[in-house]
Amino acid sequence: MSIEVSKIVQAVEPSATLAMSAKAKELVAAGHKVYNLSVGEPDFKTPQHIIDAAVEAMNAGHTHYTPATGILPLKEAIVADFQTRFGLTYKPTQCVVSNGAKHALHNAFFATLNPGDEAILPAPCWVSYAELIKLTGATPKIVATTQETGFKLTPDAFRAAITPKTRMLLLCNPSNPTGSCYTKEELEALADVAVENDLFVIADEIYERLVYGDATFTSFPTVRDGLQDRVIVINGVSKTYAMTGWRIGWLLAPDNVAKKVASLQSQETSNPCSISQYAALAGITGDQAPVEAMKAEFAKRREYVTQRIADIPGLSAPAMDGAFYAFMNIQNFLGRKYGGVQVDTDKDWCLELLQQKKVATVFGSAFFAEGYARASFAASMETLENAFDAIADFVK
Ligand code: PMP
Ligand code: GLU
Repeated sequence: MSIEVSKIVQAVEPSATLAMSAKAKELVAAGHKVYNLSVGEPDFKTPQHIIDAAVEAMNAGHTHYTPATGILPLKEAIVADFQTRFGLTYKPTQCVVSNGAKHALHNAFFATLNPGDEAILPAPCWVSYAELIKLTGATPKIVATTQETGFKLTPDAFRAAITPKTRMLLLCNPSNPTGSCYTKEELEALADVAVENDLFVIADEIYERLVYGDATFTSFPTVRDGLQDRVIVINGVSKTYAMTGWRIGWLLAPDNVAKKVASLQSQETSNPCSISQYAALAGITGDQAPVEAMKAEFAKRREYVTQRIADIPGLSAPAMDGAFYAFMNIQNFLGRKYGGVQVDTDKDWCLELLQQKKVATVFGSAFFAEGYARASFAASMETLENAFDAIADFVK
């Protein structure tokens, strides 16, 4: 016999970002030199004091179960950091630490959405939101934004997408995959629409420390009084401290939501890795100089990538105010042959770019935006130089 998988998992697509990265790694294993701009993860080593804290934690015997929602010192550090930088107070009981921000998102969706609910996703949006929302039985409602408005949701587009079934807006700021960053005024306008329509908001702020040039980051629950009651904030250490493999993220939520997420997580996974929690604690409470150094390096690469895109006739991308992605408009390069192969879609373009030039990117349609390719600049300058030489050559 074969085991029939459930209807709900049948509908789940694999993560395209991870799939493109796996394809790139396969080519590397086969002996090719690949310029990997696919997966979004800092290429830096986790700062040494964080690694040391993990070793110390193991030696101190912190190798057992922890409270389901995470160790108290870590939750205290997370809420204290939020209070210091954004001026809003959360209790440690409103913080649930999970196995990465992806898991925190899953918990947030599961704890709040019912089958039949609609959740608004401004697109382009990160690959995992829609799939995780579908797992709850709710419907992701994709709302397209345009390159002209910097791929930001406008209050009018938000209002127009609301139906009697709408319960939630997901806002990723700064955005993966577009790099756009909302101003305080833009967030205020969106908050007002959420309040008028009695919706809650999940604010994915995992790239909040990576904002460049004149752009500034504003945390969503701070923009209007009382908003904390209808917002769940998502964050984690993956991007800020180059800790993708340690799997620590969290949510900050109203009491009732945090309490049920705690129950859910206690049944699902017990707790996030004890050792990683001590490492994350060292990251948040320790020296922030490595974060600033990584950010300065990302800023340099961003300038370089912006220039390279501007230098390729027919290629464009919105301003990259935050995160570490260039969302390249490749519409001028579709509907033609590359090395004898007809390429009509962004997916084909990215696959041929990988096959023929060994540059890995992620196709825009994975983010609900056909005609784009996302290039991560969380890669060394040398990789970026070679990758953009190859892209320029590919489209010539
Ligand atoms: N949100 C966004 C927008 C992301 O890009 C990522 C990257 N993986 C995550 C959440 C999840 O991060 P992690 O699970 O590594 O903490
Ligand atoms: N968030 C990163 C990306 O978009 C990591 C991959 C993933 O978690 O999907 O590439």
